[in-house]
Amino acid sequence: MANVRFDALKIAKEHTSVDVTAPKGKVKEYFASDVFTRERMKEYISEEVLDLLFDDVDSGRTIHRDIAGSVAIGMRKWAMDHGATHFTHWFQPLTGGTAEKHDAFFTIEDGALIEEFSGNALYQQEPDASSFPSGGIRNTFEARGYSAWDPSSPVFLIGDTLCIPTVFVAYTGEALDYKTPLIRSTASLCHAAREVCGYFDKQVKHVHANLGWEQEYFLVDEALYNARPDLMLTGRTLMGHNSAKNQQLEDHYFGAIPARVLAFMQELEYEALRAGIPVRTRHNEVAPNQFEMAPVFENVNLANDHNLLVMSIMERVAQKHHFRVLLHEKPYAGVNGSGKHCNWSLSTNTGVNLLAPGKNPYQNLQFITFLVNVLMAVYKYNGLLKASIASATNEHRLGANEAPPAIISVFLGKQISEVLDKLEHAKADEAIIINAKKEMKLGVANIPEILLDNTDRNRTSPFAFTGNRFEFRAVGSSANCGAAMLALNAAVAEQLMLFKQEVDARIESGEPKEKALFELIQRYIIACKAIRFDGNGYSDEWKAEAAQRGLNCETSVPVIIDQYLTPETIKMFDFTGVLSEAELHSRCEVKWETYTKKIQIESRVLGDLVLNHVLPAAKRYQTMLLQNVLAVKQVFSADETASLNERDYDIIRRIESHSGAILEGVDKMTEARHKANRQPDERSKAVAYHDTILPLMAEIRTHADELEMIVDDEMWTLPKYRELLFIH
Ligand code: ADP
Ligand code: MG
Repeated sequence: MANVRFDALKIAKEHTSVDVTAPKGKVKEYFASDVFTRERMKEYISEEVLDLLFDDVDSGRTIHRDIAGSVAIGMRKWAMDHGATHFTHWFQPLTGGTAEKHDAFFTIEDGALIEEFSGNALYQQEPDASSFPSGGIRNTFEARGYSAWDPSSPVFLIGDTLCIPTVFVAYTGEALDYKTPLIRSTASLCHAAREVCGYFDKQVKHVHANLGWEQEYFLVDEALYNARPDLMLTGRTLMGHNSAKNQQLEDHYFGAIPARVLAFMQELEYEALRAGIPVRTRHNEVAPNQFEMAPVFENVNLANDHNLLVMSIMERVAQKHHFRVLLHEKPYAGVNGSGKHCNWSLSTNTGVNLLAPGKNPYQNLQFITFLVNVLMAVYKYNGLLKASIASATNEHRLGANEAPPAIISVFLGKQISEVLDKLEHAKADEAIIINAKKEMKLGVANIPEILLDNTDRNRTSPFAFTGNRFEFRAVGSSANCGAAMLALNAAVAEQLMLFKQEVDARIESGEPKEKALFELIQRYIIACKAIRFDGNGYSDEWKAEAAQRGLNCETSVPVIIDQYLTPETIKMFDFTGVLSEAELHSRCEVKWETYTKKIQIESRVLGDLVLNHVLPAAKRYQTMLLQNVLAVKQVFSADETASLNERDYDIIRRIESHSGAILEGVDKMTEARHKANRQPDERSKAVAYHDTILPLMAEIRTHADELEMIVDDEMWTLPKYRELLFIH
């Protein structure tokens, strides 16, 4: 009898010996060759227009419509010179990923074809996007969502198509995407940070928020992937017994990259570099067949566009190498999941990293000011930050014993913790001495030249200070980092504004600036102490302690999402101008709905898998055993038969019992789904899916995994963990 698994294994083995050669050439020669960079724009657009354009972009002003016309002409010319025939507005709907709608560079006028790409077509489009989720903001019958050009992120080519990064907003102006609020949050944060910089350095004109992401992913052979309906339809395995060997030996981590994978990576990097994505790092990750790539950091908006772009390039290139890339946070139970560490920092136009210790006490006071304000923001909004990374897929990773726990805390490391402890106990007047050169020294707490020891790492922390930046590690591998970044940006922006208000008020009332700064910092250090935790985030003691400290310890994703709608959060997003209350409500609706749909699909796929793959295989094996039992009876004496058949009887009974439990579980699960679907609103539906369907899925899985261990390997039709994880 044919077995799809063995057919797939045969094809997979053939793939491993496919000879692939990596693209050649010097990086300098092809870096950003698919991007309409500022340099290249000069060849196609007049200096006059570019001056206006760059000035608007750099100062965050809206581009004038008239400029768009001239820019569009140059853009089309460049694109067509490079073989493009179409253009698309490229946007980031709330469903995740990116969306495109391609149009050709021509129109028909009086029956004749003319090449055209107008300023209006560049500036704004109305994609027929009625099927994108809007959480009720845009009624489907209106179907009016607009995509509008984001000139701060350069246009680029994918194949024959010019891609224009755009925001996606409703007819009434509300954001329907991630990019819009991300841009708003960065503007708000950068403005607030620049104001605070004014206390230290009047030269600072702009502050930039930076993001360096580290993308983790799994690769799996295409033939094996195609033989696993769960991977194909949900991106993760819904069942599968642990491989006898997985990551215990840690021999994969930083080990040699397998040849076929290396060929994939080289092509991926080539494509990414052509798209202007400065990828720099590649290595194996902890789990077998798990890898990571990271670029050099860029401004948050561009870095996020680049991450989304890289995710789609990965999928395309993987297919060429007969791989599938798994971006899901937890494709396999029992081995590490995938995250996307978001390295975040603030820097000035004068070249100072505001989250890096400086060269003198004054710069160090600036550093401490920003550090402590970030701590304060993360403390106040730890629940919201968790909500910003919460999803049906990331849920499997968080709180599991390998990833950041479902509690947001900050790791600072020994040195910084000591500095803060000292500052906390310093007396203000004692601490502040202004010397002859008007340079401030902090007496008792004298902020020393802070030299950071970067080896002080804690991999269990969801939010870690790593020397010159914070690393938000709870972000999921499949996520749009924009969700996490905009929450962080907005929270820190609000915090900095409040800080500024209070320092100014004190200065106004006659207090010296340094004293005002110092005392407020000291107060913050004390106020936000609960967020600091350098210990083992995986331990049970921490869960208990975190609850006592008042940190958010909720683990159910649909309930965590409520954090977007607390009075404090609504006020904060309004104060910073990042999201209105209506936008927050609509986002939550989308989040709950997406959560429900994901679990609903998984639950159905699991039902199909066990009914169509697992139970038939188990039944076949059971029948074989039963036939054997009968045959033994015919040949041997009664006594001999009893002892010979003992083991078979046992297995037959176990198969019967697991099969029965599975059938019962599937019935219960179907019933639970029907009940959940009848819930009156999106939140209750999501809660029902979380509370009633997930546990049943886990139960069914246990029995299916047991059967996998029992049933004859030859009869098992689904590729096993050891095959999915170790063939490359
Ligand atoms: P790790 O040790 O965490 O693997 P890497 O040195 O590989 O760290 O850097 C990870 C990411 O952090 C890269 O994208 C890098 O560009 C980024 N990064 C480094 N410094 C900063 C910074 N100051 N701000 C933001 N990102 C940064
Ligand atoms: Mg890192």
